[in-house]
Amino acid sequence: MSVAEESTQCAWCGGKIPPRIDPRGRKARYCSGACRASAARERARTAHQDELKRAQEHAQDTFVLGSPSEILATVVTEIDATTRLIRDRGHVPDDCVEMVNAARALVAAAEQPAPQALTRQQRRRLAREQKKTR
Ligand SMILES: [Zn+2]
Repeated sequence: MSVAEESTQCAWCGGKIPPRIDPRGRKARYCSGACRASAARERARTAHQDELKRAQEHAQDTFVLGSPSEILATVVTEIDATTRLIRDRGHVPDDCVEMVNAARALVAAAEQPAPQALTRQQRRRLAREQKKTR
């Protein structure tokens, strides 16, 4: 396609651009106002999609590179939201089972009584008893 041919084709529909009456000024890129408007709408749509994509990528980066406190906040928010969802539905949806099991293990670990740390006295007594048995 030569440059001359290109310049007479509408950049939107590819149709022929009617010859200009006035040769001054810019060459027309579109055959009609409708094609010019469609091209402008498409540019706006693409720009909007690019913006959305950048926002999503940014959100992902922020999550992946989030600080421990940010990640913790996200996890807590997720658990709260899942708790509400389960209450609303009255049962555990399949896609929440993994989180429920993880939370159950967490609670079990938290509620298990921690082995009592020995006092200094108890440690001494234990040491004396061990010497005696030798
Ligand atoms: Zn056109």
